[in-house]
Amino acid sequence: YDDRDGFIWMDGQLVDWRDAKVHILTHALHYASSVFEGERCYSGTIFKSREHSERLLASGRAMDIPIPYSVDEIEAAKAAALKANNLKDAYVRAICWRGSGEDMGVASSRNPVHMAVAAWEWGAYYGDAKMKGAKLDISKWKRPSPETIPCHAKAAGLYMICTMSKHAAEAKGCSDAMMFDHRGYVAEATGANIFFVKDGEVHTPKPDSFLNGITRQTVITMLKDRQIKVHERHILPEELEGFEQCWLTGTAAEVTPVGQIGDYTFEVGQLTRDVADAYEKLVRGIS
Ligand code: PMP
Repeated sequence: YDDRDGFIWMDGQLVDWRDAKVHILTHALHYASSVFEGERCYSGTIFKSREHSERLLASGRAMDIPIPYSVDEIEAAKAAALKANNLKDAYVRAICWRGSGEDMGVASSRNPVHMAVAAWEWGAYYGDAKMKGAKLDISKWKRPSPETIPCHAKAAGLYMICTMSKHAAEAKGCSDAMMFDHRGYVAEATGANIFFVKDGEVHTPKPDSFLNGITRQTVITMLKDRQIKVHERHILPEELEGFEQCWLTGTAAEVTPVGQIGDYTFEVGQLTRDVADAYEKLVRGIS
């Protein structure tokens, strides 16, 4: 991703893509002091752009990384990054991190906080799985308790669990992994939230130990508008067997059907297809 043409917005400047670098003593590189956003731009409009900028600021507050930009300034930075790269359909990555400075120990309050925004073309996150249903591994790693880390933040530190889970899944030929939370309830996939269908009703984990995704909230509203019952609740592993359909939601994943989790199989059913179509229409502004 580093050796290509284009521009990246960094602390107020548009920098040549290849020159958008940080120093090796960047605090974030050593201690994961960074928060970020993943957004998608469709036909020139970032879906729920302000919500993402607000979440970035909220993640910064939660992780003690004071971000020196307002929502409006973040919006302008994203627009500048898209324009400089002449992109209308793209994935947008905004990131804020503690740089190098006075501190090289765990504490970093004297180090400056930086921001960058990059944007690039990124197709279907799960490739073919989008049509056929993704195959998910069951991770041995658990989402941490909210008493361990602010688990609602989109923070780099939380992602090592996801990366290790996803590597293990890929080694087994799976597209992703489903993780349980610290109590053993179903939580989410490594970069997406999860939904299940049983008897025409939808069940999804209560977001008390993981990121309450913007796509997740959008899909719940969409389902409720269609008079479909949505149960946000704690889901036990033994319930997986009884669910008929399953899908993932996320900015990158959009709505991706799941065909298998461990030994449990699901059909890519009508409701899954309807939700995926409705989401696609919504983000593209087709009514
Ligand atoms: N959980 C995790 C761990 C994620 O990385 C993401 C992607 N941001 C999601 C859930 C879904 O969030 P959103 O719908 O806001 O993209």
